[in-house]
Amino acid sequence: MKDSYKHKGMRKLLIKEVQTKGISDQRILDAMMRLPRHFFFDEIFVTHAYEDKAFPIGQGQTISQPYTVAFQTQLLEIQKGDKILEIGTGSGYQAAILMMIGADVHTIEYNRVLFEKTRNFLPKLGFKPTFYHGDGSKGVPSAAPYDGIIVTAGAPTVPQDLIDQLKIGGRLVIPVGDGKTQSMYKFTKVAENKITKKAFTNFSFVPLRGENGWK
Ligand code: SAM
Repeated sequence: MKDSYKHKGMRKLLIKEVQTKGISDQRILDAMMRLPRHFFFDEIFVTHAYEDKAFPIGQGQTISQPYTVAFQTQLLEIQKGDKILEIGTGSGYQAAILMMIGADVHTIEYNRVLFEKTRNFLPKLGFKPTFYHGDGSKGVPSAAPYDGIIVTAGAPTVPQDLIDQLKIGGRLVIPVGDGKTQSMYKFTKVAENKITKKAFTNFSFVPLRGENGWK
């Protein structure tokens, strides 16, 4: 697939829109400008790639809305070299953005078809995060602790397993709510037994499955 001037033009407008909605971290805006989102779409749907909307990627799942990708990434407050766990690899777009701003990315996907597809595809664009297949609602204890954990599916509650896998100073960004709409929470582990919390409303994700998700 090519990245034409037309694609670049559409991407520029999308980034402006995301910025207008409140994203100010220039590293994220630059990464989104550099990464062709249409590469993550089937060729016949390419015209939808530069709308600020989630879009189906097969298996009943979606690539998240660009604004949501930027918002969650901004909440993670990534410093170069931070070890970040992403739960819900999906298309790989979010993982690529995290890598572009300097994170050491570990990403886990529950759906085997998407896991295989993205594990094959993402390295072709030059991105080689550590891929896992399995239930990320329990985190990935083998690579813990993390500077940040980002959950890209809607959870019914906040899994204690994920809090446990944060470093001191680590951040967990997770949408929590009912099956359809969620609030976005940012938890920061300020000390071993002390967590601070911030909430932001009105997001809509596909459900988090697995032991600490929707059964
Ligand atoms: N981050 C993705 C991207 O950039 O395309 C978008 C992810 S999509 C909104 C949510 C993903 O979470 C789906 O691919 C879904 O299969 C996955 N998922 C749901 N429950 C999961 C779980 N318990 N562990 C890992 N992945 C899960």
